[in-house]
Amino acid sequence: MVTTCSVLGSAQAPPNWLDPYRANAERLIAAARADQFAWHRLAELTDTFGARFTGSANLERAIQWAVATMRRDGLEQVRTEPVMGPKWVRGRESLEIVEPPQHVIPVLGLGGSIGTPAGGIEADVLVVNDGAELERRSSEAAGRIVLFNVPYTDYGATVPYRAGGAVMAARHGAVGMLVRSVGPIGLRTVHTGGMSYAEGVPRIPAAAVSVEDAERIARLIARGVRVRLRLAMEGRFDPDAQTFNVVGELRGSERPEEIVLIGCHFDSWDVGTGASDDAVGCIVTWETVRLMKALNIRPKRTIRLVLFTNEENGLRGANAYRDRYLNDAANHVFALESDSGVFAPARLGFTGSAAARAIIGDIARLLAPIGMQTVIDGGGGADIGPIAAAGKVPTMAYAGDATRYFTIHHTPADTVDRIDPTEVSTAAASIAAMVYVIADMPQRLPK
Ligand SMILES: [Zn+2]
Repeated sequence: MVTTCSVLGSAQAPPNWLDPYRANAERLIAAARADQFAWHRLAELTDTFGARFTGSANLERAIQWAVATMRRDGLEQVRTEPVMGPKWVRGRESLEIVEPPQHVIPVLGLGGSIGTPAGGIEADVLVVNDGAELERRSSEAAGRIVLFNVPYTDYGATVPYRAGGAVMAARHGAVGMLVRSVGPIGLRTVHTGGMSYAEGVPRIPAAAVSVEDAERIARLIARGVRVRLRLAMEGRFDPDAQTFNVVGELRGSERPEEIVLIGCHFDSWDVGTGASDDAVGCIVTWETVRLMKALNIRPKRTIRLVLFTNEENGLRGANAYRDRYLNDAANHVFALESDSGVFAPARLGFTGSAAARAIIGDIARLLAPIGMQTVIDGGGGADIGPIAAAGKVPTMAYAGDATRYFTIHHTPADTVDRIDPTEVSTAAASIAAMVYVIADMPQRLPK
């Protein structure tokens, strides 16, 4: 049992305060790994409903499936909470090199982009490697399609070109913006994703091309060849659409008002099936409450599972949750999100005070049998972010290997086939055991 915080924080002392939790943690880990239940549920979800884009009928069908399935699992207080989401419609798209010889290349409009006039726009291309080169070559950008051929380093460093490239290019007079897909080289895979416009800057169509095609165009131009492109897009916004966050709980036995929040986002981009982004995050966090229910484990605090809607192109679900539970924000003792895939080697990451970090480090020792005992610094998520900021809540992420994740991120290749069942069960086991102790330990996780 817990005696003092200094005992909890000691790196050397055996974490014997964990003794009362060891047996149930082991049961949860064993149950998560006993079969491939979670992987099969992930396959069922993604095979049946496919892409779950905000505003689509399939997202709403998947939400109803989740509600019915949570109830069958025996979760408590299962409910939907309404959210109005933006409805961007891709329409038809095409990109071709019209000179030198005509050649169609794969393209994906960026979410939120305007369309082109019917028939498309035709312009010479200016290839730049980064924003600084665009600044230097500003006089060449006017009337052209700017292609940002920015090599992928990591997501945070490269994604600003996808998100803000249209504004950067339009400031220099470009008529269209193409971005080299944000990710390591794949199989000529094109990655979509969010983008935005800025007040006072002309809105130009924005799309992504594969790494291979960006490099090909760059090589042609480096040889002194003029490259002319025709880009046609029908992207547009329809009026906002009704969607829902899905909530299911396991009510706490002694302190039900204290919330341990776990979750994911249930929506995906409109290509692929969003298996890694983020159906798998939903399934593995859902496993925590399903397994506790099945094993008759009920912690002292309430565990609340939220499948957030509209993360990808709006974050409306996350903001709606924060607004709805604002008065309860301080009662959220911990929040965990899985939205970085489950590819091995995966890690848990934590953001919180040193006192909380020490306790998390102790609990993680229970995960040594599955190789998940090392908790890295830094962990949260887009969906738990708003409520965590409002309540100063310690946060954790389950983060899979970034190279495999970002190779298929926001592409038609994000399917269940790439995920190994053991990667799913390892994630479910680690999250369940960690969350169980945090929800059941005598003291509240310190802020
Ligand atoms: Zn995601």
